Amino acid sequence: MEVREFIADWFAGTGDPLIIAGPCSAESEAQVVATAKDLAATGRVHLFRSGIWKPRSRPGSFSGAGTRALQWLAKVKSETGLGIVTEVASPLHVEAVVKDNITDMVWLGARTVSNPFSVEDIAAALSGTAIPVLVKNPLSPDIDLWTGAIERIQAAGVKMVAAVHRGFSPFERTVYRNMPKWEIPIELRRRFPDIPVICDPSHIAGDAALVPEVAQKAFDLNMRGLMVEVHINPSAALSDAGQQLTPAGFAAMMEKLIVRKPTTDDPGFLNQLEELRHQIDSIDYQIVELIAARMGVSVRMGEYKCRNNVTVLQMERWLEILRTRMAHGKANGLEPSFVEMLMKLLHQESIRKQTEVMNNLKSNGECG
Ligand code: PEP
Ligand code: MN
Repeated sequence: MEVREFIADWFAGTGDPLIIAGPCSAESEAQVVATAKDLAATGRVHLFRSGIWKPRSRPGSFSGAGTRALQWLAKVKSETGLGIVTEVASPLHVEAVVKDNITDMVWLGARTVSNPFSVEDIAAALSGTAIPVLVKNPLSPDIDLWTGAIERIQAAGVKMVAAVHRGFSPFERTVYRNMPKWEIPIELRRRFPDIPVICDPSHIAGDAALVPEVAQKAFDLNMRGLMVEVHINPSAALSDAGQQLTPAGFAAMMEKLIVRKPTTDDPGFLNQLEELRHQIDSIDYQIVELIAARMGVSVRMGEYKCRNNVTVLQMERWLEILRTRMAHGKANGLEPSFVEMLMKLLHQESIRKQTEVMNNLKSNGECG
């Protein structure tokens, strides 16, 4: 089936999951063509992704090959038959891809979606075009910002809009580069039952070895496709080197992934109870990660107290913690007695850890 036909069917709610794969950035004609040929040979890919304009967090990082890379992507298309998708971050980018008519779909990146003015400008440029648009989630876990970006693109008359879940910048580094916070894409799907949501496991994982487990989780949550970063030689990649799969790694992952087939009772969605359970699971994991971060700080305090000869327990500080947390709990609709129990448990464990650290340091003679 021709790729644009497949895309239209997919937006209409039918067909297999949409699979997008390709390098983070288009670096050279040889790199994109070689990657695309290997990806096409897997028979698993619909669209070839690569960024040609790269919004980077830090100046001095590779910021993309620019408009000239559109010719490389034309070559990818003619030599492999794969569809083409790239990132647009300004009206000029939209003009360039629309004029070229090689690109079958565009995406708005997390940094762009974080700024409503940029989204507004891009939406205006997309108005009157028929190009399908993917809207990644913003950097922060702000569901209204994501919702607003989708609404702005829809308001411009774009008919084919989908969302991409790529995780959220963490307050503390955990195993993944970006926090999945699965409850957010689930809530987005509740807000927009007709908008397909796919997952970008590469930017969530931040590590090639962790991409398959994130991709499987996305399918377990009935997401409707994947966008995966794949590079012909990941270690030489000019951006996101650590998280890109080789084409062989991608093929192996696709072989193992289990895609839930919607049944007639379950027309593409999990039932509500299951969705709520997934939300609880995701929140519980975040609670555990936050507690671990809190214990990490306790350990550092234990070291400090030992070196400065301060006792582990300081009563006024503890009473202050209890008082402020109970008040904060109350303001959030939690029973103060429940918050008191929770804080006592945390405090007990924190004291245990601090005492352990101090004893270790003392036995090594590192503090008095
Ligand atoms: C990308 O897809 O390479 C990218 C820059 O993604 P994000 O906007 O999700 O960070
Ligand atoms: Mn990337």
